[in-house]
Amino acid sequence: MKSFAFASISELKAQLANKTVTPAELVEFYVQRFAKYDHELGSALEVFDINSVLKDAKSTGFLAGIPGLIKDNICQNSRKASCASKMLENYVSTYDATVIKNLKEHGALLLGRANMDEFAMGSSNEHSAFKKCLNPWNNDCVPGGSSGGSAAAVAAGLVPWALGSDTGGSVRLPAAFCGIVGMKPTYGLVSRYGLIAYASSLDQIGVLTRSVQDNAQVLTAIAGYDKQDSTSLNIPKKDYASTVTNTLPEDFTIGVVDNALNAEGLDSEVKEAIDQVVKFYGENLNVKIKHFNLKSLDYSAAAYFIISRAEAASNLARFDGVRYGLRNPQAKNLYDMYADTRHDGFSEEVRLRIMVGNYVLSEGHAGAYYHSAQKVQQMIRQEFVETFKGVDLLIMPSQAMPAFKIGAFDKNKLQMDLQDYFTCFVNLAGLPAISVPCGFSKGGLPLAFQLIGSHLSEEKLYQAAYQYEQAHNWYKMHPAKFI
Ligand code: GLN
Repeated sequence: MKSFAFASISELKAQLANKTVTPAELVEFYVQRFAKYDHELGSALEVFDINSVLKDAKSTGFLAGIPGLIKDNICQNSRKASCASKMLENYVSTYDATVIKNLKEHGALLLGRANMDEFAMGSSNEHSAFKKCLNPWNNDCVPGGSSGGSAAAVAAGLVPWALGSDTGGSVRLPAAFCGIVGMKPTYGLVSRYGLIAYASSLDQIGVLTRSVQDNAQVLTAIAGYDKQDSTSLNIPKKDYASTVTNTLPEDFTIGVVDNALNAEGLDSEVKEAIDQVVKFYGENLNVKIKHFNLKSLDYSAAAYFIISRAEAASNLARFDGVRYGLRNPQAKNLYDMYADTRHDGFSEEVRLRIMVGNYVLSEGHAGAYYHSAQKVQQMIRQEFVETFKGVDLLIMPSQAMPAFKIGAFDKNKLQMDLQDYFTCFVNLAGLPAISVPCGFSKGGLPLAFQLIGSHLSEEKLYQAAYQYEQAHNWYKMHPAKFI
């Protein structure tokens, strides 16, 4: 059979329309790729039975017949949703998340559940309770996290697109580490109904694809108002795919975040690659380049650390052995049942975060930690509002370094937490941002840059990213092992 491994969504749509391939053949093709490659790569926690996938097939719809993979914290009716945690190992969802409902209405075919860091807590996918996920470009390295399975599967050509979730960078970082495009939309643009919460005020479902155009197509299918999510934005639906064109508006201005590019600890190859990107926008596309320092950047990782843990402690309180998931049956009394269940069900990383979260929320400490972090969050929001008065988009790194070796930060938790340095302040401000591939390190690992926009500027982000992508063609390069 012809290979569809790295075909774009538009190519697949054209072939389906010409009837040179059927949805059943496409599903079978990708399922076979999982069978061939994924026992080693570890990107999926489950690949569904082909017939059960095809039962949702429709001949019409924006993504009719196009297969994809769903991060395992997004509920799919009658499928497990484990969040890669023992706590929810056997939990079967009784409903579709709104994004899943939208995808099915658009005819998308959902192949399985993507591996991830437990409850989306992590930057490397090393915290899955079930199995490791490797970086397709170098199997000794991590794929990034927490949506590592989603990114690895797309980069290895096992599916054309995948959904992830981004609370502090979990779509953009794995996209950067795996050499693909990762979009974190404006908070409220995509419904969170049916996304198992980590930190509700920061969580947003995002899209991982190999190209910008593919990404815009999937966002078009999932975005839209949902009355089931009280933070959903009631705005008219847009067709993002049709706005990805070859032109940029007149007087387009990009702001370079100098203090991010000069940050201590930023890998020199990442910095050089982004300097080239800035040069390209300025010289080849005549974009006006301005330079900025974002003062709040220095405080954002600390504020994120506190707010995300506080919300996690509160959200994960529901996993108590009574309402959902695991229950330790041996316990002698109610207290032990709670304690043992939570001890057995959550890994150490998750327990640690719950403890920190409860501490920063506790009487006597909330003022010093939680309330201060909220003040920093306001500062960050305000600084962005001011900054976007003078620029269309901001450019800065997505990653501090190329994908690191598995286990590299086992003994250095701070270094692991700092992987969010360039991404988490976008979540604190609720803004959209996209990570775009921009080359390779000398060691052959993908490099990326990040564009950040004001609220609801997804079209501008796609347009600017597309201009760069089409002039460079990094998206046509794939990890050798999977070609
Ligand atoms: N690495 C960050 C964390 O562990 C971000 C995770 C995410 O975006 N889901 O909190």
